[in-house]
Amino acid sequence: MFGRKSSIELKKPEQFERMRAAGIVVADTLQVLRESVAPGLTTADLDAIARESIASAGATPSFLGYHGFPAVICTSVNDEIVHGIPGSRVIDKGDVVSIDCGAIVDGWHGDAALSVVVGEATPEVADLLTVTETALWRGIAQACVGARLSDIGHAVEAHVRAAGDYGIVEEYVGHGIGTSMHMEPSVPNYGQPGHGPRLEVGMALAIEPMVNLGGRHTKTLDDDWTVVTVDGRWSAHFEHTVAITADGPWVLTAHDGGAERLAALGVATPARSS
Ligand code: MG
Ligand code: MG
Repeated sequence: MFGRKSSIELKKPEQFERMRAAGIVVADTLQVLRESVAPGLTTADLDAIARESIASAGATPSFLGYHGFPAVICTSVNDEIVHGIPGSRVIDKGDVVSIDCGAIVDGWHGDAALSVVVGEATPEVADLLTVTETALWRGIAQACVGARLSDIGHAVEAHVRAAGDYGIVEEYVGHGIGTSMHMEPSVPNYGQPGHGPRLEVGMALAIEPMVNLGGRHTKTLDDDWTVVTVDGRWSAHFEHTVAITADGPWVLTAHDGGAERLAALGVATPARSS
């Protein structure tokens, strides 16, 4: 609104460097988890791997104790969309496991998620994961100075809608991130372009589409955490933490800063060694 100061936290370059350190811890942890997922493991086994990975980096898990959340990561399997609690569930061949991970370094947060298929994916499930991850990158490609916030969600939605008859989750959205995991603004995965605040140098956003094979509707299980699809169809979730810089989006939770995926979309990224 005219004359009203934005409530979005702006980071200085050295603060982005700390968020990058947290982002690398998250990227490393998700990589280890992706390589570890196998039939016969429990989701609690994955949580233990994440706990060790984050601790060995000298970082702190963002999720553990967050509003009472009892684990280091969220593990959401098949029809579970997000916020699944690691436990005794045994991972089976063909399952989709969505893993969400956050870490804190020097008070600065990184947050990212990915979905992985255990073994062979059906074509339908393989497409779901590709569509969701590509939609994330389409959204990230909009995270440039001068764009409007809703350009991100519009790009995500446009990609998903063009790809097929999927449900885009609306109740859970991306968010600003920095000194807290969840900050202003909300970053929906849908909507018209050209609305909301203009993106400025120093903003950081977690962009995180959740896409369902069936309808978009969700419900929360009796554990008060696990969010599932109402129709029981499977879901995928991909997320990155993105810094908005004068030289383009810097994907803090991607090892290459997003350079490869964004170059393929014609978007420049800051020149960096890591
Ligand atoms: Mg997350
Ligand atoms: Mg998030």
